[in-house]
Amino acid sequence: MNKRAVVTVYVRHRILCPDEHRGEFYRGCRCPKWLRYSHNGQRVRRPTGTATWGIAEEQATKLQESLNNGQDGKFAPAPTHQETIKEIVERFIARKRSENVKKETITVYTYRLGLFEQFMAGRNKFFPAQVTKTDIARFRDTWTSGELQWDDITRIKAQDHYRSFVRQAFPVEARAELLDEFSTIRQTKEGRDRRAPRPFTDDELGQLIAQVPVAFLKPKVRDRRGRTSRPRTQEEVRRFQTLIRFAASAGPAVRDTAQLLRSVVEKALTTGVLVIVRQKTDKPAVVPVDPTLLREMLAVGYSKHIFWDGRFNAKSRAQNLNDDMNKVMRTAGLHIPGNIFHRFRDTAVDHWIDLGWSLDDVANALGNTVKVVEEHYKKWASDRLQNRMAKMPTRKW
Ligand SMILES: [Zn+2]
Repeated sequence: MNKRAVVTVYVRHRILCPDEHRGEFYRGCRCPKWLRYSHNGQRVRRPTGTATWGIAEEQATKLQESLNNGQDGKFAPAPTHQETIKEIVERFIARKRSENVKKETITVYTYRLGLFEQFMAGRNKFFPAQVTKTDIARFRDTWTSGELQWDDITRIKAQDHYRSFVRQAFPVEARAELLDEFSTIRQTKEGRDRRAPRPFTDDELGQLIAQVPVAFLKPKVRDRRGRTSRPRTQEEVRRFQTLIRFAASAGPAVRDTAQLLRSVVEKALTTGVLVIVRQKTDKPAVVPVDPTLLREMLAVGYSKHIFWDGRFNAKSRAQNLNDDMNKVMRTAGLHIPGNIFHRFRDTAVDHWIDLGWSLDDVANALGNTVKVVEEHYKKWASDRLQNRMAKMPTRKW
């Protein structure tokens, strides 16, 4: 006679389950419950299709009885193992990792697909085949209602991730129908207005530079996090004024500004162009900068990095620069919420397009793709083109 099989209920925690550490017999979470037992010397694991422990236990009892009676036909394990949503998420992420997708992108994928898996588990959907168009529609609805409140661009980007996940990891039969439900999301007018370029005028730049000592030398300034900062030195004031001139001339990202090396500036003095390998795009920004400004940067800069003394880490230095710029903009009455360093980029591009640069030139200088640059600045470029063309000599009648 066979040794009696013992059917055990256990839980397979979801990726984002906060109770994962409580182990596989924890009953308090909404994760899928599974059964396992030995049958003819084989270890068998099977899904119950429920997240409720009690229902899983009822199934276990039935299965146990049937095994005890030697009837294993009805409850025999499926011949092929069906992948759970959690498993396909993990497989998808492992695949992205092996494709050398950037670490930051992997983190975003993990978060977004974790939300997907969690949402589906909440609707008792543990297998890809159980997911319906309605589930997708309801899931998409959570992006704007409830806690998430994603803006239009975030939704558009997230949707790209979900689409490629479904396209690459879901069973072939289910793909087309579900992809169809991830229909096109348009940018909103508010979103577009918020992202519209906001360059500084020359007057405003002058005002900003003039307000640096006011913002920096005020004794005991309380910043927006409620911390009191020490008054800065004259040297720090001068360095920050140079930073404003540099930011408006070259449009660098704040991260790249914080890590700008003295050696890179020195090299630019001999070649005429500053070459910054961008942290975000991994593309070089090749930007011509006025030698007078380059020399000024070398004169006020720290020893290794121009705008960073090397204390703490580069990320916190970038945050400091952002906070300081925020403070200066507020003092000058030129602050727009949520838009700090990007305005310098807009300012630089505004100037370049005025001087007749093409969008390809602008993309090279920013270390961005032409596509991204076109998205942001196309309207400007075509306005300027019209202005230039309007001034061309014409046939007189
Ligand atoms: Zn759990």
